[in-house]
Formats: sequence, structure tokens, C-alpha cells
Amino acid sequence: LTILGIETSCDETAAAVLRYEDGRATLLSDVIRTQLAEHAPYLGVVPEIAARAHAELADLTVAAAMNASGLSYAELDGVAATAGPGLIGGVLVGLMTGKAIAQAAGKPFIPVNHLEGHALSPRLSEDCPFPYLLLLVSGGHCQFLDVRGLGDYRRLGSTIDDAVGEAFDKVAKLLGLGFPGGPAVEALARNGDPKAHDFPRPLLNRPGLDMSFAGLKTAVARASANAKSEAEKADICASFQAAICDVLAEKARRALEGFDAGAGDKRFVVAGGVASNKAIRAALETAATAQGARLIAPPLRHCTDNAAMIALAGAEHLAAGLCETDGLASSARPRWPLDEASAKADPVFG
Ligand code: ATP
Ligand code: MG
Ligand code: FE
Repeated sequence: LTILGIETSCDETAAAVLRYEDGRATLLSDVIRTQLAEHAPYLGVVPEIAARAHAELADLTVAAAMNASGLSYAELDGVAATAGPGLIGGVLVGLMTGKAIAQAAGKPFIPVNHLEGHALSPRLSEDCPFPYLLLLVSGGHCQFLDVRGLGDYRRLGSTIDDAVGEAFDKVAKLLGLGFPGGPAVEALARNGDPKAHDFPRPLLNRPGLDMSFAGLKTAVARASANAKSEAEKADICASFQAAICDVLAEKARRALEGFDAGAGDKRFVVAGGVASNKAIRAALETAATAQGARLIAPPLRHCTDNAAMIALAGAEHLAAGLCETDGLASSARPRWPLDEASAKADPVFG
């Protein structure tokens, strides 16, 4: 199978062409155009600006990916695009672009859940069979999922307030480190003392796998008020990151303890933009090793938003015959939980 994937749910306009054979993925092209420069002055992603940028970039990005693949539309077996969750304006652009190409080329269209893309992303580059425990940590999500098989995702616990990426972005904003916050906070944390501040680890000692990061953010805000020097800021970043690491590692340890790996090895996947944080990866690695599990993390390029993971999700669905309904009839969904079988509940656009 050869699939064109399109991703436009947040602030990356991306397109990729992927070949999928015998369960193995090969990328023929993988284009990511980030809109960082457009959003940086506002210290966050502005939905209207994102939608307009996607509208300007989508065709060019798809053309670049097709060119780089050396294939024509006629040689594709299907077109996949993110149908949600995400910023509705951008999702609509990608969805309409994908549908139009599929329609014109007479190929099946596969609407993809962006979170499923992140969930399957380790399978782009590694032998990572089902089942596995997944920690999805991104700008909008923080949850543990039991990935039993394709389309079979069970949520084990999630944040009850902020996502971890969101917390990183807010801390960066408080300290005047610019946008996006994650990489800036991680870089500064390297020069700081993780024990300088004893920030709260909310819900750490409560049973279960739910998490909370809002209280941590408030504590950081209080500490930031008197932090002027680089050194003080570095201490805050290091202490904040240490609190996140402690919470994620302890919850991961618990999740792995109860995880049913069947006859195979215990695999623990961390995916989403925050998975590119090296300190967090190291903390999770320690937790995994202690539980006899292997930590699998996609390469940095495929942690943050990309179209390769969307093409892969589309290919896996098509290969498994899971595209029972007409993809062209699918709608854009601002919210779309991964553990929900199909698109029914909340407001629907498109
Ligand atoms: P979602 O996938 O939930 O819809 P999103 O697509 O915006 O959200 P991603 O692109 O997967 O999220 O990740 C972006 C987030 O990852 C941002 O919040 C960013 O700050 C965070 N991030 C990126 N790099 C790092 C890092 N090195 N350390 C911590 N956080 C990071
Ligand atoms: Mg992004
Ligand atoms: Fe994402």
C-alpha cells in the first residue's frame, strides 16, 4: 500500500508519502512546515492565524511531498488526513484537501484521529507489535492508554486539568522564554538545580493513574514572580521538570505493574511532543527498566506533529479493512477521544 498522509490539526502543515508492506513502513517523503514564526509573537498558537497558514501551505506541502516521493497521485492506494481532534479551522483545511485529492484520483479517503497517529508513531521506525502501554504526552493531552491492537485503545488514566506540554508552554511564558516552551525550558533546566524548589507532585500518592499539573503550574508562577536572573530561572525550570519527571515515572511504574503484556515482552511507548524531552525520557526509561519493560520512543521528528504518523494510521486501517464507511462522508471533529469507537458525540463540522 502507498498512502499520502496530511496533518493540519495544530501549527504544523505536514504531508508524507508512506509505503506499507507486510506490516513494515517505509517513508518515501516526509515534509513538515512549522508555523512557529507566525505564532511566536503571540507566545502561543493563534487558531485564526493557524487556519490561514494551513490554507496557504497545504497545497504546496502536499505537492512537495508528492514530488519528493517521485510518485503520481495515480500510484497511491489511498489518502489519509487528520479529521480531529485539533483546531477546527486547520483540521478542515487538511480534511478538505485530502478529500479533494482522493476524489479526483479515485482513491479511498481515510479520516484519521490525530491521537491515533501519535499512538502508532513508534511503529514508523521500530518493530513495536501490539499490545503496548502508551503514555501520550503532548500539547493538549496527557494520558496512559492500553493499546491492545489497531483501533482498540483503552484509557487507563489521564490528566484532570492541564496537559504536560501546556504546562511547559505556560512555565516558559511566565519566565519570558518565548514559544514553544518545551525545548526552551528543557534547555535552561540543564543549567539549574532540580532541588532548588520543592514543587508539588499532585496526585502522586493517590491510587490510580490520573494526573494533575495545574497546582504545579501555580507554584511555579509564585516562584517566578521573584526570579530575575538566568540562574534563578534555570533553577525553576530544573525543579519544575523534576516534578513532572517524578509524577510521570511513578504513574508509569504503576501502569506497567498492572499491564498485561500477554505472552510477549512488556513494551512501554512514550509519544507526543513532550516525548522529545530527554530528562522525561530518562525518567521513564528508569521506570520501565525497573518493571522489566522496554521503553520505545519515536525519533524527535516523529514525536511532534507530522504527517508520517497520519499516513501510517491510514495505511494500517486500510490494510486491516477497518475503513468500513465512506471516508468522504467523514466530518472534522474538534474533540475526538481515542478510546471512543467512532465519531458520534459532540459538535461536528464539515
Ligand atoms: P495534541 O497532539 O495533544 O493535539 P499538539 O499537537 O500541539 O497537541 P505536539 O505537537 O505533539 O502537541 O507537541 C507540542 C507540545 O510539546 C508543546 O506543548 C511543546 O511545548 C511540547 N514540547 C516539545 N518539545 C518539548 C520538550 N523538549 N520538552 C517538553 N515539552 C516539549
Ligand atoms: Mg505543534
Ligand atoms: Fe499532536
